[in-house]
Amino acid sequence: MARRIGQSFWRDFFQLCGAVGRAMKVTLLNLIRRPVTVHYPDKTRAYPDRYRGLLALTYDKETGEENCIGCRLCEYICPPQVIKVEMLKAEKRNYAKVFTLELYACEFCELCVQVCPTDAIIMMKSFDMSTADRRELLLDKDRLHQIGLMFEPSWATGNLLRDMQTPPKAPARHEAEPAKAAEAGAKPGGKAE
Ligand code: SF4
Ligand code: SF4
Repeated sequence: MARRIGQSFWRDFFQLCGAVGRAMKVTLLNLIRRPVTVHYPDKTRAYPDRYRGLLALTYDKETGEENCIGCRLCEYICPPQVIKVEMLKAEKRNYAKVFTLELYACEFCELCVQVCPTDAIIMMKSFDMSTADRRELLLDKDRLHQIGLMFEPSWATGNLLRDMQTPPKAPARHEAEPAKAAEAGAKPGGKAE
């Protein structure tokens, strides 16, 4: 009986030593491994090409005018209803008199970007707006324009995204007929015209 207890003690002891040894090996390997973290915000990583982060409003590059025409499409599509727009009607075009976005409740779903007819609202290649004060994330029109100038814009605009999603048009009949004839001529036994 005493012999059997002694055997089981030594078996458990060696198993424990083996487990401690394996754990220490992992610790030692990580001590000499290069860190995978960076000292943010002193160092930042390059964002992936398709990164889409903070929302912003844009100006027309040629005229310097605001691109937003106050149409409110983004307000209607926004699932958590964090956008509020008031339209200002003017002679040549309309503007947004008021534009607010509650970034703290935004889902970053990008629907507002996708529906915007003038590419006025876009996403930026940055998330760099952490704050301890929630009120700073209630963005008004000026702040949204400022963010648009501060960071690099994402590749995706409403017009680009809609172009990508539009199915290719069927060729017109006068274009389709010669193509069909050429196809029939190319087939073995087909009649070339
Ligand atoms: S990204 Fe989505 S949730 Fe955020 S403002 Fe746009 S539509 Fe609303
Ligand atoms: S950001 Fe675009 S969708 Fe929203 S109100 Fe302005 S023009 Fe309309």
